Amino acid sequence: MPAGDTLHEACGVVGIYAPGNEVARHAYFGLYALQHRGQESAGIAVSDGATIVCHREMGLISSIFDEEILGNLTGYIAVGHTRYSTTGSSVVVNAQPLLEHADFGDVTVSHNGNLTNTGDLRSTLDAATVLQATSDSEVLAKAIVQAPGADMIARIRHVMGRAEGAYSIVMSTEKSLYAFRDPWGVRPLCYGRFPGGGYMFASESCALATVGAQYIRELDAGEIMWVDNDGLHYDKMAHHKPQALCMFEYIYFARPDSVLSGKSIYMARMAMGRQLAREHPVDADVVMAIPDSAIPGGIGYAQEAGLPYVEGLIKNRYIGRTFISPDQKMRARGVQLKFNPIVELLAGQRVVVVDDSIVRGTTTPRIVKLLRDAGAREVHVRITSPPIIHPCYLGVDMASHDELIAANFTIDEIREKIGADSLGYLSKEGLLDAIARKRGQMCMGCLTGEYPETYNGPAVLATAAR
Ligand code: AMP
Repeated sequence: MPAGDTLHEACGVVGIYAPGNEVARHAYFGLYALQHRGQESAGIAVSDGATIVCHREMGLISSIFDEEILGNLTGYIAVGHTRYSTTGSSVVVNAQPLLEHADFGDVTVSHNGNLTNTGDLRSTLDAATVLQATSDSEVLAKAIVQAPGADMIARIRHVMGRAEGAYSIVMSTEKSLYAFRDPWGVRPLCYGRFPGGGYMFASESCALATVGAQYIRELDAGEIMWVDNDGLHYDKMAHHKPQALCMFEYIYFARPDSVLSGKSIYMARMAMGRQLAREHPVDADVVMAIPDSAIPGGIGYAQEAGLPYVEGLIKNRYIGRTFISPDQKMRARGVQLKFNPIVELLAGQRVVVVDDSIVRGTTTPRIVKLLRDAGAREVHVRITSPPIIHPCYLGVDMASHDELIAANFTIDEIREKIGADSLGYLSKEGLLDAIARKRGQMCMGCLTGEYPETYNGPAVLATAAR
């Protein structure tokens, strides 16, 4: 599939196997905790051991499910998904979990990530295959049910040997739950145990905590786990790949109360803020952050700089992530609707404002204007990520090369465009230091243009850059 046709998914997935538990309700609250990973559509599929029933719709978790719908999802295995995508693909047919009917039974699949060889994988499908959706996830799901193999693990292994790109998947048959992660470990996936019995898989540990499942660990890159009547089982892809966990999960995407690769996201973001203060100090009176994602970074900056941290902007929490709205017009309006300044904290002050990233450059100039209109005397923008200069092919909607402000302008030009008195980005080395990782352990494609081996693509890069 050419790059323009692919969908970019940075979604949230959950899977639960817990006989005697209300799995649909747990999946519901698990997805609620992962709502930040996608706000366009969601779904839950539940199996009672004989039949899989799936409910998926456009919208937020809270608007899709009610008591009656959850009450109809009875069983002991649940698979859930919450999704965000780019323009044009925001339609219910692309909502997940996907439900596939195979001759050996039904299979329901939730995918977080983005494949980079969907076209190749599609060409391996039976000629008669009809695709309902337009997503790489559907090709992946069909490839799994059509793969040769005596059992589901053989089928999964077969597809894992062929699929390239990012995939953290939770899926189930009528009787078993499966979870697996691509051999590079680009997107997160962890699991835990319910104290009363049963297991739960989720994109982020915050989902486990929400429903009282005890976090055990992340799945390793290339690891397959499954739960059936006999309990929990593990298997591993034979070939080892260099680790390539997405750096942007640390910078922005994951919830601050999650743990990723053994590191608290909150503490990692605070460390980024501290490092940023060391790299880009400035004479100022107060430090603030753009709520919510930049708050730990802002607090870290303030601590290191020895300046007071203030809540200069109050966010309307009922308006979704601006970036997730599918088109630019909606995004621009979202910024205005989302924040109100506390004039009393800002008037006459020299303000350091910390945000986690500048992508297209839509949000920052509006924020700077809001702060100036509220009376800020100086506005110094500090960003807890290095400049984002390349698109993402592995599951984060990072815009095309043309849209990325830092790919097209110098830092001083950006400062001018956003209307700030000064602008400082965290360095790549500073970012790695802050999260105690080495270059080879992370995917930093959006910051360096060097993608993990799974991304095979000057061709894709050229298409996207047009
Ligand atoms: P922009 O307005 O395009 O420069 O986007 C930057 C803002 O959107 C920052 O305030 C980030 O917190 C947020 N953001 C950055 N990347 C993403 C993403 N992939 N999805 C949703 N929001 C994002």
